[in-house]
Amino acid sequence: MNWNTPVKFLPLVGPAFARRLQKLEIKTVGDLLWHIPFRYEDYSLISKIGQVQPGETLTVIGNIFSSQNRFTKYGKQIQTITLQDESGKIDAIWFNQPFIFKSLGQGIVLALSGKVSNFGGRTVFESPEYEVVRDGNPLIHTGRLVPIYPETGGVSSKWFRSRITPLLSSELTQEFLPKDISSTYKLLNLDQALHYVHFPLHLDQVTPAKHRLAFDELFLRQVAASQRRREWKNHKAITPFLTHEEKVLAFIESLPFTLTTAQKKVVREIVRDLARSVPMNRLLQGDVGSGKTVVAAIAMYVTHLNGFNSLLMAPTEILAEQHFSTLTLLLAPFQMNVELRTGSKKSSKRGTQSSMTNILVGTHALIEKSVQMDSVGLVVIDEQHRFGVRQRALLRNKGSQPHVLTMTATPIPRTMALTLYGDLDISVIDEMPKGRLPIKTWVVSTEKRSAAYTWIKKQVTSGVGQQVFIICPFITPSESLQTVKAATKEFTRLGTHVFPELRLGLLHGKMKTETKQSVLDTFRRREIDILVSTPVVEVGIDIPNATVMLVEGAERFGLAQLHQLRGRVGRRDLQSYCLLFTSEHTPETSRRLKNLEKSLTGAELAELDLKIRGSGELYGLSQHGRDFLKIASFQDRDLFEIASREAQKLIEFDPQLTSAPLLKERILSGTIAEVAPD
Ligand code: ADP
Ligand code: MG
Repeated sequence: MNWNTPVKFLPLVGPAFARRLQKLEIKTVGDLLWHIPFRYEDYSLISKIGQVQPGETLTVIGNIFSSQNRFTKYGKQIQTITLQDESGKIDAIWFNQPFIFKSLGQGIVLALSGKVSNFGGRTVFESPEYEVVRDGNPLIHTGRLVPIYPETGGVSSKWFRSRITPLLSSELTQEFLPKDISSTYKLLNLDQALHYVHFPLHLDQVTPAKHRLAFDELFLRQVAASQRRREWKNHKAITPFLTHEEKVLAFIESLPFTLTTAQKKVVREIVRDLARSVPMNRLLQGDVGSGKTVVAAIAMYVTHLNGFNSLLMAPTEILAEQHFSTLTLLLAPFQMNVELRTGSKKSSKRGTQSSMTNILVGTHALIEKSVQMDSVGLVVIDEQHRFGVRQRALLRNKGSQPHVLTMTATPIPRTMALTLYGDLDISVIDEMPKGRLPIKTWVVSTEKRSAAYTWIKKQVTSGVGQQVFIICPFITPSESLQTVKAATKEFTRLGTHVFPELRLGLLHGKMKTETKQSVLDTFRRREIDILVSTPVVEVGIDIPNATVMLVEGAERFGLAQLHQLRGRVGRRDLQSYCLLFTSEHTPETSRRLKNLEKSLTGAELAELDLKIRGSGELYGLSQHGRDFLKIASFQDRDLFEIASREAQKLIEFDPQLTSAPLLKERILSGTIAEVAPD
């Protein structure tokens, strides 16, 4: 048995429980050990039966004196057990649990823990925790601090305690960390940490125990990533690309704008990578609207000049179509053929891509087996966090050893990025194109709603044809029917009662792609003034003439997410505005939203989100249905830093981990195989 043994092989678990445990993301024995209690019930006060008072929470231990099953007149059953010690007797009662008698016969020594109450004038335990006391078996459900775990249907904390206990005295708890690391950072040893976190004797043992396990989580992840990074660098050599400097400069000259210094810097970093004999594996990070697409276009152009083709994968069809038009616009004059492949829009010929295609743009549909392309030299993945490791690997396999460029607007502080994406090199565009005016942002109170509508009308009718986004929030966590309904209703309301004289459009994720596309095209051609939409426009949409972003139910969004939405406007030299409407008027909400009125960057807002809401959710990582980190928290900055430094150091000096065989086994057994959510 090791950390990666599937739980179904454990005694008393089996396939049925294994299936239930999946709901809690528990698949392996290691996951079970890392299933951390969220609180502890304090049953450590052990009392003589004769001294028990109603209202107290405590434990008594005694012999079973008698037991009785009784039917009430309503057909319910009450189980009573009378427990006795030298100081007296007390009853414990349960309702409709006749099975408890199976294991609890007369004379057995039993521990009861719970709150003592008054039932029909008698002092009793009502539905207490119970546990048979056996010599040599320490108590785990009673008489101590008792762990309470996240539970799921049919899997109780009691179940977890019983299954986790034997693991704690197995070979699994052997120390795998190199000694110098645990001593430098004063980490508890593994055995101790696991005992303390599951069965602490005092609550103050819990924090250092979690600290140690959080370190493990980050460290193992980073060691695995560092190894992958080394492997990547050991790929067999590829032919370096020529940089074609003059042609690239001519292309840059042809752009309708000058590149920012930051864009130039990352272009240099990327071109330098392409000119190496090791495939590039780079993450391009840049705030919304910082101009990542054109950087990717340059990389694709260089790829083309070297006789290779490129693939670009975007998370949504809308975005894929947009990239398709942008790239066509930029690169067609340079004799490059761009084609589109999405789930709903297959290219004319199925199967192998036409040999004329130099760039194939698409959604995850690109991963399908039927999509084949010759000589793929570069794979670009936009909004990288939306895709899992596996999807990325599949896409990479479309080429033999292609360069990979992933792009994201998700601002991840550097130390964290190293741990989360430790196998990637990172480039950052830390500057916005010149001439952009800061977007004026206001949190609008309910009384000002109609004034705001009047103001919007004026914006639309008196300016140079400015356009407006109105975003209705997801009602349920995603683009559900309910969400669509809400947006549709708002569209009708606004069209009938508020802006009857303006041209309104509706956009939501449940529309057919063609419909979506035609709505967006109409909007882009300025034949729509106001686009009412669900947050599907959040990612990447580029409509330069849109200058007003109104968000309904703003309290439902994280700050970083609102920043993304706001990034849909202010994309040219016009003054743009963001109006935030909320239906929740608590001081915290408005304080939180007011942060957007200050001009902060996406990175700063993500930091704030982290402080206020305290989770990885806002890094866009929990869209995968679970928290990305099981034990460590994104607030453990120092721990990220230390784990990443130590892992890199270790891999540098001992890439095969010969000095730490148990660590090697943990890594190989793959508990932490993933760098990013899948
Ligand atoms: P993102 O980084 O969010 O993907 P885009 O690549 O969509 O941003 O670029 C946003 C907008 O800015 C586009 O309309 C693009 O043409 C424009 N843009 C990109 N770089 C510059 C620049 N250096 N100067 C002015 N506008 C630019
Ligand atoms: Mg983009």
